[in-house]
Amino acid sequence: MYKARAYSAAGATSPLAPASIPRRDPADRDVRIEILFCGICHSDLHAVRNEWSEFMSTAYPIVPGHEIAGLVTKIGSAVKKFKVGDLAAVGCLVDSDRTCPRCKAGLENFCPNLRLTFGSRDDHLGGVTYGGYSDSIVVDEHFALRVPSNLDLAGAAPLLCAGITTYSPMRRYAVGKGKKVGVVGLGGLGHMAVKFADALGAQVVVFTTSPHKKEDALRLGADEVVVSRDANEMQKHAGTFDFILDAVSADHDVNAYLNLLALDGNLTLVGAPPKPLGVTAFALIFGNRSLSGSNIGGIPQTQEMLDFCGAHNITADVEVIPIQKVNEAYERLLRSDVKYRFSIDMTSLRE
Ligand code: NAP
Ligand code: ZN
Repeated sequence: MYKARAYSAAGATSPLAPASIPRRDPADRDVRIEILFCGICHSDLHAVRNEWSEFMSTAYPIVPGHEIAGLVTKIGSAVKKFKVGDLAAVGCLVDSDRTCPRCKAGLENFCPNLRLTFGSRDDHLGGVTYGGYSDSIVVDEHFALRVPSNLDLAGAAPLLCAGITTYSPMRRYAVGKGKKVGVVGLGGLGHMAVKFADALGAQVVVFTTSPHKKEDALRLGADEVVVSRDANEMQKHAGTFDFILDAVSADHDVNAYLNLLALDGNLTLVGAPPKPLGVTAFALIFGNRSLSGSNIGGIPQTQEMLDFCGAHNITADVEVIPIQKVNEAYERLLRSDVKYRFSIDMTSLRE
């Protein structure tokens, strides 16, 4: 065991502050990664503030962060995928049983014995797992991903959650040429969804509550931008979408988007607002529409997504900040005041 530097929160109303946390020494199949960048996902904020307490209560102290990218500094004797000095990344998963049908199908994200990067039981050291707001992390190589070397690392880190969470449902619903795709909420997830839908060849419409994001949305790959508070603009698209990805972090009217779906259209929720969303039966019944959810992605598809990003030169648009600005960044995230993901320069932890 060794001590790593980190930022942690002691309670739902406490700020994130410097801390020292235990990490295990790499076992045979483990890699130790020096973390260079960690993205700030809205899920970090929901968890730090215990906003999902009804579904999963936060264990304190919490070290958030599951958009991790860095360099391999140490490997166990049986490691095959990495050597010291390689780029490596870690997303939301750090362990699973590896033997259940879901794991065997590459869907570790649905393993009953899944261990998340932060806040899950730590089977190695006891206590809970600690995330990426830290100078290093140790994981089984199976849960470490390869990062294409052409990608900017600060912008690649957010691919590990915002990237895979939006890529996975788009693959499931065959987003591509000839499909009309909506993206609701131009935040960290939403802006990645726009890039993927555009790269896959779809017609992309962004729905935003922030009129000032219009130009950015077009630059990111949208063909059209709708300010969702304008009922007339919304009505123009009624009944026309094959697929809509909803990446909104707060309470909103999902029926307004269900009504925009074409026959057999699907709306997938990836946003995880703490409060229940009210769904009108007729918004689904009229048109055989469906509403579904999607939870990050498995390890093989996460690697596929990173390789896709390498081939298409896709990264997140990031504002790089030192860890000392993390509490301010959370307040800005709540105001949608970031273009479009904070990426923490983790070398700032040494200051
Ligand atoms: P984010 O960067 O804060 O983006 C959320 C966007 O939602 C905002 O940029 C804003 O877009 C819109 N929004 C915010 N408040 C709103 C309101 N009151 N009404 C309507 N729209 C509002 O957050 P993120 O990191 O992308 O995460 C989005 C959500 O996905 C979070 O709930 C997060 O926990 C969840 N998540 C889920 C998964 C999964 O596996 N399913 C994975 C990661 C994250 P506009 O300004 O364009 O309106
Ligand atoms: Zn996330």
